Amino acid sequence: MPFVKLPNGMTAHVKVAKPRAHRCAGLVKCTDGNAVRCARSSAYQCDWPITGDKTCDAHLCAQHAAEVGPGVHYCQPHLARHRKALAPGGLFSRLGVES
Ligand SMILES: [Zn+2]
Ligand SMILES: [Zn+2]
Repeated sequence: MPFVKLPNGMTAHVKVAKPRAHRCAGLVKCTDGNAVRCARSSAYQCDWPITGDKTCDAHLCAQHAAEVGPGVHYCQPHLARHRKALAPGGLFSRLGVES
């Protein structure tokens, strides 16, 4: 960690915030049928609730972040679960939640 000398002779510890390059966790189907990590730089995070106030937080690019509401984005597996829950006979429809 770098230190800087202040004008008054003291040294100060400088915390360098390293910007972590988050990459999209979405999967892209290759022409050979294999799925590979998308790896575009992340612009969103999955908002799927896990426990308490925790969310999935998978990093997603604009292409893989599925917007399900204002400012709410889901990753691909969680979008699938979301859609399933909204489907007839699914969890949300049983509870009478409008989609
Ligand atoms: Zn992506
Ligand atoms: Zn997710």
